Amino acid sequence: MKISEILDNGKLTLSFEVFPPKTDASFESVRSAVKKIAELHPSFMSVTYGAGGGTSKYTLDIAKSIKEKYGVPSVAHLTCVSSSTETVKQRINEFRDAGIENILALRGDIPENLGDFDRCFQHATDLIKVIKDIYPGFCIGGACYPESHPESSDKAEDIINLKKKQDAGFDFFVTQMFFDNNLLYNFLYRIREAGITSPVIPGIMPITKAIQIERAVKLSGSFVPQRFINLVDKFGNNPGAMMQAGIAYATDQIIDLYSNNITHIHVYSMNNPEVARKIMDNVSEIIN
Ligand code: FAD
Repeated sequence: MKISEILDNGKLTLSFEVFPPKTDASFESVRSAVKKIAELHPSFMSVTYGAGGGTSKYTLDIAKSIKEKYGVPSVAHLTCVSSSTETVKQRINEFRDAGIENILALRGDIPENLGDFDRCFQHATDLIKVIKDIYPGFCIGGACYPESHPESSDKAEDIINLKKKQDAGFDFFVTQMFFDNNLLYNFLYRIREAGITSPVIPGIMPITKAIQIERAVKLSGSFVPQRFINLVDKFGNNPGAMMQAGIAYATDQIIDLYSNNITHIHVYSMNNPEVARKIMDNVSEIIN
């Protein structure tokens, strides 16, 4: 099923992101986590794409099994910045032949050692053109950034570029993680003013281990509110307490979003079925 159809049907949704294994050796443990998360019957699941494409086979296998074995709609991520046009075309054909209906089309982070000579793709808008040329039937999502992308000089420029993405044909957007819902509300107000009408699915990252926060902030540049810093200071050294507090914080964000008429939420569940289950339990009456 296409994500655009799911987003259109007027019901609240909760979806989860998983990531593929880096090696054959870890495939079984990832497969087991994916199965447990799929058995929670989320609205859909997305599968990330390893930077550089080295794990693309796993992205495809997992996205296919989510859809075919567990009956959950799936989205396969695809990045392009460190790939040749030929490789990207090959991946898109593989996705189509495997029956993948939804792609999250991303540029990817630019590797430090990548010279301009190597770059076939400058932006996700270049990728969507290639996808649509090969198979216009895909439903295509993209990324957006409530606190703006680190490469943009300011929020206004980032929103102009997001409008370019909408105009290029992206069907929906999923946001970068954020820890303060006011940043999202402000972002939504600004993009709607700028004529961006596509569905935006906020991405919520439950932080359940103290070490995750540093990594998450380094990757995303997200602002961490004092309330969350206090929580990590207080419970960071107690794994059970940190897990409980982190899930409570994410649940609080999710319930606030639903209360403010946000209908679709994507959770970065980090291949952790326990975290996914607890969040699903915490909102089960709300989304049903
Ligand atoms: P772009 O849309 O190309 O944006 C990058 C920068 O260029 C921004 O500053 C933007 O404002 C600007 N820009 C965009 N379009 C144009 C244009 N047409 N003209 C001029 N400027 C433009 N990374 C992975 O490696 N694998 C994943 O699976 C993955 N999944 C992700 C999922 C989500 C929901 C998010 C938010 C990020 C994900 N990332 C993933 C990280 C992502 O690859 C990086 O954030 C990357 O730096 C930007 O990718 P993008 O598709 O947003 O790029």
